[in-house]
Amino acid sequence: MTALSRSTMIEAMLAGDKAFDGLFYTGVKTTKIYCLPSCYAKKPYPENVVFFHTADEAEKHHFRACKKCFPDLPQDLWIDNKDHIALIPPSDFNFQECLVFLGRSDAEVLHLVHEKSFYKCIKIQEKNVLMKVFMKQEKLVIEFPDFLPNKFSRLQAAKYIWNLFDLDCDPEPFYKLAEKDAVLNPIVSRHHGLRIIGIPDLFEALSWAIMGQQINLNFAYTLKRRLTEVYGENYEFDGKTMWIFPEPETISALNVSDLQNLQFTTRKAEYILGIARAISEGTLSKEHLLLLEKEEARNFLLSIRGVGGWTADYVLMKCLKDPSAFPIADVGLHNALKTQLGLDRKPSIEEILKISAGWKGWEAYAVFYLWRSLYN
Ligand SMILES: [Zn+2]
Repeated sequence: MTALSRSTMIEAMLAGDKAFDGLFYTGVKTTKIYCLPSCYAKKPYPENVVFFHTADEAEKHHFRACKKCFPDLPQDLWIDNKDHIALIPPSDFNFQECLVFLGRSDAEVLHLVHEKSFYKCIKIQEKNVLMKVFMKQEKLVIEFPDFLPNKFSRLQAAKYIWNLFDLDCDPEPFYKLAEKDAVLNPIVSRHHGLRIIGIPDLFEALSWAIMGQQINLNFAYTLKRRLTEVYGENYEFDGKTMWIFPEPETISALNVSDLQNLQFTTRKAEYILGIARAISEGTLSKEHLLLLEKEEARNFLLSIRGVGGWTADYVLMKCLKDPSAFPIADVGLHNALKTQLGLDRKPSIEEILKISAGWKGWEAYAVFYLWRSLYN
């Protein structure tokens, strides 16, 4: 941007010149919304405009992405073909590896893996939008099998999938460190191109972590299914039922006994109701957490009743996409390390700290590849 003068940028903005998209971003001080230079929305008065180098910079200054031009989506990497969206993932991306992880449990109710495609239903603008996601000629294609949503919804869907598969991440430094790491090397070679599969929705991520505390994975899935089937929305398509995780507003209106009826412990019921209320009231939000530095975000999460170290790190990893988040107390991690190291017991936390000394900055990726090694 330094090469462009303010008057050049103003000219480009007023002309709506597409050639400047991605070179700078326009923020409107009065509305706190930022745009691409080519945005077709009504042009603001030049005196109200500030310019940013990147979308991130605009977000850091508390500007929100325009809902007409989508300045927060990676330019040139997503193509709106009207009846479907094509995303261009980084060359290392391996969709098949991700599908194995996504299909690891038959008890999953929030998505479906079927014939090399991933199906997911999300709510966009009060409508349930079904997506079918698959690879075709090195593009990640999103189709809408039920009805064709409007452009805004299509691009929100693209954004969701882009985040779900962590396609912003360049894992090259992780691959490099893994090459020199005795534990990671075989796993990362075998599953190369796997990305951390996130839980983009904060309420779902926190609830799922709390449901999983101190019980086996199967029972956690049972709790999730019950909660979703009673309080979520279902979506019938082609003889299959897809579910959408309950809204925090729905859950916040419940009593502890409502969740106890689904076999939640009193504590877990209280934790989840508390989180649902905080999100509904706006005192807890993903947008706010994303603006904080990592330690601040972690401390904020830890201040929530029911959130301990493991839950905070799990949410940092799966929802806030921090590659250095490290849920070191994770049972799955311990089981995977036990197998990889050929131990007859799980490793201690001290041992894990030693093993992970070389993972700095990429702990979440190391954990995720170790989880993947459990599903061969
Ligand atoms: Zn715009």
